[in-house]
Amino acid sequence: MTVKILDSSFFFVDIPVEGNSFAVPSSVKSELKDLLAKSKFDAMEEKGLFVAEPSKNSRKKAEAAAEKSGDLGVLSQTDLDVVALALETGGEVVTDDYALSNTAQTLGITVIPLQQRAAKKRKWKFKCTGCGKYHDSPGFCDVCGAEIKRMFK
Ligand SMILES: [Zn+2]
Repeated sequence: MTVKILDSSFFFVDIPVEGNSFAVPSSVKSELKDLLAKSKFDAMEEKGLFVAEPSKNSRKKAEAAAEKSGDLGVLSQTDLDVVALALETGGEVVTDDYALSNTAQTLGITVIPLQQRAAKKRKWKFKCTGCGKYHDSPGFCDVCGAEIKRMFK
């Protein structure tokens, strides 16, 4: 069974992901300061979520792939950890981040987008430019303080 590596943004949206094996690098867990995100993390732990560290070697491979795809400049260390962990576990990446998807796909990793699921369940119109959390109105993000922008589909 394939393990699904969850991006931080997964914990900030109300979208379920199917499966019974999930993992995050510890850098994702440490980004979850928001109470709802934390409780979602706890709920996912009961569904088989575990925290794992990618090796230095996998991190290097992720970085090299990001450099190759031109995404290195916009990816955070956490994003690279997600890619590295997917690479190491032979897992799939759950994200709606374009640069992260692009880098993962460069390495032949399957990417499961969150947005497509979101479109089926509910229509989000505003997204934080920082952490990717979806909001009901424009302004500034209550999680990371970055600007919230309207999404065009
Ligand atoms: Zn934010």
